[in-house]
Amino acid sequence: MARTRIYKNLNMKIEKKYYFYAGHRNKSAGEKCGRPHGHTYDVTCTFRFGTMKNGITMLFSDIDKLVEPIIKEYDHYFLLCEDDPLVEILELAGEEYKTVPFETSAENMAIWLFNRIKNEAGLPIIKIEFAETKSSKIIYEEE
Ligand SMILES: [Zn+2]
Repeated sequence: MARTRIYKNLNMKIEKKYYFYAGHRNKSAGEKCGRPHGHTYDVTCTFRFGTMKNGITMLFSDIDKLVEPIIKEYDHYFLLCEDDPLVEILELAGEEYKTVPFETSAENMAIWLFNRIKNEAGLPIIKIEFAETKSSKIIYEEE
């Protein structure tokens, strides 16, 4: 039987990429973003691990099992700030949507997802990259 090898005090990082599709609008971000529209949101998470056992910090699939339910919760939904008047209209029309307690800017979404992955999934996330378009993304790191 192979000897167990444990490494401690490592600075090992794992980067994982996820995505989801969603509609939204952001009334506080000008005319273009104020219109209902949608994005393919690319979410890249960086995790830092200090310990490795038998060559593994954490299985990629185990990270996915914890992160994907959080990311996919918003997949193919219309995301709205809870104060948006469209909430009432979609409610009356019987349409499905998701609300969040903030304007759905990329900055707010990045911080929201970072904190959910850290606190609900309990993963050692240190950085999130949140891309709304092919050319623009937010990079949020905890200080
Ligand atoms: Zn947008």
